[in-house]
Amino acid sequence: MGRSVLVTGGNRGIGLAIARAFAAQDDKVAVTHRGSGAPAGLLGVKCDVTDAEQVDTAFKEVEAAHGPVEVLVSNAGITDDTLLMRMKEDQFTRVLDANLSGAYRVAYRAARGMLRQRWGRMIFISSVVGLSGSAGQVNYAASKAGLVGLARSIARELGSRKITANVVAPGFVATDMTESLPEERKQDILRQVPLERYAEPEEIAGVVAFLASDAAAYITGAVVPVDGGLGMGH
Ligand code: NDP
Repeated sequence: MGRSVLVTGGNRGIGLAIARAFAAQDDKVAVTHRGSGAPAGLLGVKCDVTDAEQVDTAFKEVEAAHGPVEVLVSNAGITDDTLLMRMKEDQFTRVLDANLSGAYRVAYRAARGMLRQRWGRMIFISSVVGLSGSAGQVNYAASKAGLVGLARSIARELGSRKITANVVAPGFVATDMTESLPEERKQDILRQVPLERYAEPEEIAGVVAFLASDAAAYITGAVVPVDGGLGMGH
């Protein structure tokens, strides 16, 4: 479709699957990385989303190569799990800074071009735990819940300019992030998933591509679960 797409954290995991889904439909796709470079076929821009200057530089590179970003996928994220009573303040703020403030930084920078074009799609990758909470993830769950308020406010502010903002809330997806979980915890999670398996990154990517498509033009401010039924009722 030839649109300019930027996926943060698109060098691996869910972000890479999302980037590939857009590339497969002939969009011009850029991904951020923090030094690893980008897989073949994707434009890599070096960017740590905790640094507004790096975000600005990355957008300038994408704009020069592909034109203003029309589809933004804010996917970069980290975990740093521990129980509340052991969680240090910097552990809390570091996760918030990457997952929530990072999303603000890229949305802020993307909005400029989208407003000028009077068209845009912003998609934020949250998590089922943003809505359900999760023991040991006060920082991560708070950051993912925050994305809902962020996206819905953007949806209200920019809807008149044909800019939509939506949230995708994956359940458990087979990536580096979940690979390190203890086996017991993995089995415990699987018991709660009606579909009895993890998601493949491509199953998240398909929903993101849909939200950026013309078929989703009337969807904004939505939180779309892609979680095998784990969070039903939220
Ligand atoms: P991975 O750990 O596999 O990849 C994380 C990605 O985020 C990497 O590309 C990483 O870049 C990037 N990243 C992290 N911090 C920063 C930063 N400060 N600046 C720029 N890029 C950064 O995670 P997943 O692919 O599993 O997760 C992707 C998103 O999906 C995350 O937001 C995660 O919270 C969310 N999610 C994941 C679930 C899962 O089960 N896996 C479930 C629900 C949501 P680098 O390579 O440089 O480290």
